[in-house]
Order: sequence, then structure tokens, then C-alpha cells
Amino acid sequence: MHIDLNLQSIIFTHVLTCLSLAASVRWVARGDNSDGLRTWAFALCIYSIGFALVGLRGIIGDVYSIILGNFLISLFYSMFLLAIKDFMADPCNRLIFWLPPVLIVCLYSFLMDNIRARIFFGNSILLIQSVLICSALLKRRRLFASRGRDLILVIMLMAPPLLFTRIVFSVIKPSEVEPLFTASWAQVIIGGIAYVATILISNGFVLMAKERSDERLRMAAMKDRLTGCWNRVRIDEFANQEMARLTRHGHPVSLIMIDIDHFKEINDRYGHAVGDAVLVGLAEMVQRGIRPTDLLGRWGGEEFVVILSMSGLGEAMFIAEHLRHTIEKNLFQDGLHVTASLGVSTCLPVDTWHSWMSRADRALYRAKHHGRNLVQVE
Ligand code: GH3
Ligand code: MG
Ligand code: MG
Repeated sequence: MHIDLNLQSIIFTHVLTCLSLAASVRWVARGDNSDGLRTWAFALCIYSIGFALVGLRGIIGDVYSIILGNFLISLFYSMFLLAIKDFMADPCNRLIFWLPPVLIVCLYSFLMDNIRARIFFGNSILLIQSVLICSALLKRRRLFASRGRDLILVIMLMAPPLLFTRIVFSVIKPSEVEPLFTASWAQVIIGGIAYVATILISNGFVLMAKERSDERLRMAAMKDRLTGCWNRVRIDEFANQEMARLTRHGHPVSLIMIDIDHFKEINDRYGHAVGDAVLVGLAEMVQRGIRPTDLLGRWGGEEFVVILSMSGLGEAMFIAEHLRHTIEKNLFQDGLHVTASLGVSTCLPVDTWHSWMSRADRALYRAKHHGRNLVQVE
């Protein structure tokens, strides 16, 4: 069936859409380009020009339409890859970036009169570039879940089979392969996919940036500004998770409360800045003394809590004693020595977070009462 496509209208709509997307993506992009949005916006501009040049074949000179147009489309794929690498903070190999577009220019200059060979080589290069983009998107997929990245991936996974089909047809049925913008259903479908893809991929990039920003805010809301360790929000969350594991699987979990001794005197004698440095130094030291699966949080002021995952009372006491000893021996800012008192309790199946915490608090109080720089258990 013949379809009456108005070439100029299609090119005009597609280019206008891409340029609008580029402008809106650039508008939301942050200054430092760490989310790749600026690169993607630039890529869309390159694509728009390349698409317009390829589409205007016969109206403008072949050098512009065939060579420059396809060079820009391949460059767009390279910039797409660069935008993803920017987002992932991965370096982009210069050879991988420049080789495909430069190859297109060289090959197309030799193959000006052979459209089938151009379709074969051109699509093969784009196929390799789209595979590179898919693999960059799949890299470290397990590390951070992102619906934006998955959206881009779903769209991009369609590119290799489409390009491959075109390559196969250019070999087995060269007479049926049509240049772009021929009035046929196949071209309408390919053009439609390209049109929708640019919109969805742009949404994907913006969504990726938003998701990462949300995650950063979520983390910041759970961190203590001064020491960088977790605050009460995360401590409560972690404690409840661990208590659920105890109830469900019987995994033991213990708690250490740490309170710096006579901290007020340090502030009074050396000033708050030194007091702050002591808090930061102590947090770093405790963090080094526990396992990555344990949690260190600042309960408030000069009080810290450590939740020891998969640890019974004996192990918790051992770690607490080790921490007390390390704090006592350490030289803090200005050669300061400090000591701390520690209260330890293990979680019982009947405990609530409050009752578990209260026992550690009572043990800590006893440590203070018995002369400080001590570990007590309850
Ligand atoms: P104790 O041995 O009984 O624990 O005595 P202490 O002086 O450590 O306890 P107290 O509760 O009397 O004083 C705690 C001090 O911690 C008072 C407060 O000014 C100080 N403080 C709380 N938060 C901060 C902070 O963020 N930075 C600094 N520099 N000091 C803090
Ligand atoms: Mg205190
Ligand atoms: Mg204190």
C-alpha cells in the first residue's frame, strides 16, 4: 500500500521535537554535568542537524546529506554513550568516541555511488555503537536500581535487532532495502520508533537524574551533618530491621551505647571547634573498629550507638572493650586524650526497641557511676 508521506513536514516535526527536548533537558541540567544531561541535550542538537541533513537528500548536496548527515548521526550515538558514562562517572575512551563517526566519513566518501554498501557498513557501525550504549546501561545495574535507566534500556534494546535486520536485508535482499524517507510501512515504523525513542530517552535521562537526586536527599536526611555517621532516623530503621531478623531467623543482635567522659570540660577548656574535632575523630575511629555490616550512629551530643549485626552478648562485650581501649589510647586534635563509657545490651525476643535501648542506657549509667572509662552490660 502506498503511503503519502510529506517529507518536509516529517523532518520539520522531528527536528522541532528534538530541539525542544534538548532545550528542556538543558534547562533542568545541573551546572556540573555529573548527571550527563548537558551532554544528552547537546547530543539531541547534533541528532536534529544530522537527521535534517539526511532527510533533505536530493534537495541539498550529497556531501552534506550523505557524508555530513550520517557523520552527525553516528556522532550522536557517541555522545549518547558519553552522556551515560558522564552519569556513571566513568571515563569515555576517545577512540571509541571518535572512531565510528570518522569511519562513516571515510567509508561513505568511497561508497558515494553504492547505497547498499553504505546501508550495510553504516548500519553495522551504528549497531556496534548501540550495543556499546546498551552495555554501558547494563553495567553496574545491580548497584543502583533506576527506572529512568531501565526506560532508556528498554528503548535501546530495540535498536540492535532493528539495525541487524536492515543489515541482513541489505545482504540477502538488496533490492528491497530502501533508503530512509521512502514511502513504505517499514520506514514509517522505523521513523515512528526513532521519534518516540528520542522523547522517551530524554524522559529517561531526566528521571535518572531525579532518582539520584532523591536518593542523595534521602541519604542526607539520615546522616549526621558533623560526623557523617547515621542519625536517629536510620538508627531506628536499622534497629527495627535487625529486630525483625531476630524474630524471624533467630539472628542475634547487640547494642553498644558510647558516651564521651567529661566532654563538657573539653568544650569549656579548648572551645567548641576542638570538641567538634574530637567527635569527628571518635566517629571515624569507631567506624574503623566495627564491621561494614554493623551500624554506627550519633544518638545526640557526645553519645553514639553501635548496632552489631549477628552478634551475641559475648562478642558485643569484646568489641566494646576493644573500642574503649582504642579511644583511651588515641591522640585527638591538639594531643588531647579522651575516654568514654560504654553500655552494652543484647536484644531479647520479647524486647521492643525502647526496652532494648533502655537496658544499654542503664548499663552506660552504671559505667559512669563506677568511675567512667568502663564497659558495663545489662
Ligand atoms: P559525662 O562524663 O557525665 O558524660 O559528662 P559530659 O560532660 O560528657 O556530659 P554532659 O551531658 O554534661 O555534657 C555534654 C556536652 O556535650 C555538653 C554539650 O555542650 C556538648 N555537646 C553536645 N553536642 C555537641 C556538639 O555537636 N559539638 C560540641 N563541640 N559539643 C557538643
Ligand atoms: Mg551524654
Ligand atoms: Mg558525656
